[in-house]
Amino acid sequence: MLLGFDRWKYLLLFLLVLGITTAIDLSRPDLFKVTAAEFLELRSTYRSIPLGSLFSRQNEQSDRTSIYSFPEQQAHSLPLSLLGWQDLENSGDYFDRIQPTPLGYLVWSNFPVKIYCDRPENKDRQFNASQKRSQQWLKAVEKAIAEWNEVIPLEVVLEPEIADIMVDRISPAIKGKINSETGLFDLPPVRSATTSYKFYLSQDKPPILSHRMTVQISPTLGYDAILGAARHELGHALGIWGHSEAETDIMYRSQTRNLASISPRDINTLKKVYQQPTQLGWRVSK
Ligand SMILES: [Zn+2]
Repeated sequence: MLLGFDRWKYLLLFLLVLGITTAIDLSRPDLFKVTAAEFLELRSTYRSIPLGSLFSRQNEQSDRTSIYSFPEQQAHSLPLSLLGWQDLENSGDYFDRIQPTPLGYLVWSNFPVKIYCDRPENKDRQFNASQKRSQQWLKAVEKAIAEWNEVIPLEVVLEPEIADIMVDRISPAIKGKINSETGLFDLPPVRSATTSYKFYLSQDKPPILSHRMTVQISPTLGYDAILGAARHELGHALGIWGHSEAETDIMYRSQTRNLASISPRDINTLKKVYQQPTQLGWRVSK
């Protein structure tokens, strides 16, 4: 029958398993909640933005234990420029290659999207060679911004504190790591440009779950390479978090010899991204 075990032992085992399952079930809602301290951690990654009033009382017991619920995933309404976009040639898209973040698709919902780019300090009237290079860098980045502005409303701002997208004139850091098998330091291939995202809570009441993008483009590139990199990285910053397999798209994985322009497939993909639900841009609740 029970092969040496008595019925009580089975009952205890059953209750133990039931207990574990219930514990897992009970912990599930926490997946969608985050403490104020955790939000503060996300927020503190923005050194240039002062901490919101929400967290100014971070040392008080009440705030440390407060639980904020993430908003539901919902789609935002499309900006008019994307709403009116129609690709008469049906060139298709590469939406299946776009990755959502843990909070959903990287969709902007407050237009125009504000972009700050590094600009040279031209106090002197006489430009030296390095100032000329940084002017050229800025010119190329601003051209790429003007091109994307035809697709999504953008605004160049002069204060980094209010920017949604930062474009830095800097070589992306190379993050090497020790290979545990060989004991040697592995370096990834050198990249001339990169884009990353961070989440934070806005200072609105109640706060809005927001994101901020940082684009880094190397100062050592030539004009065409800066323009190509800026077009591509701004595509990521505007929400195309993935790569196309077609060389003719600006979101092709690597830079091609021929300078690609923003293609109908890039715009079709971006439009699809903006039709997706996301938690970004919606208010959190207590
Ligand atoms: Zn890319």
